[in-house]
Amino acid sequence: MEWNWQLIVENCTGCGICRDVCEQRAIKMSRKMAYPEPIEGKCNGCFDCVRECPFEAISVLQIAAKVEV
Ligand code: SF4
Ligand code: SF4
Repeated sequence: MEWNWQLIVENCTGCGICRDVCEQRAIKMSRKMAYPEPIEGKCNGCFDCVRECPFEAISVLQIAAKVEV
């Protein structure tokens, strides 16, 4: 299952909570980065970051599986 992690930039304060709560280490953010970024292929859709972000700045959606015809 693949997940599309998206930041709502205008809501994000750059607090770093989402990176800290992600057990998959699927979010990167360094002192030089103003905003968090997803690391491709690591998110497992647990929604911890969505729940813990104080500013509702994260959207995580499942990417629909491709159907072969
Ligand atoms: S927890 Fe929310 S506000 Fe804080 S850095 Fe992550 S997305 Fe931005
Ligand atoms: S949904 Fe879970 S695994 Fe994905 S980035 Fe958020 S905390 Fe990490």
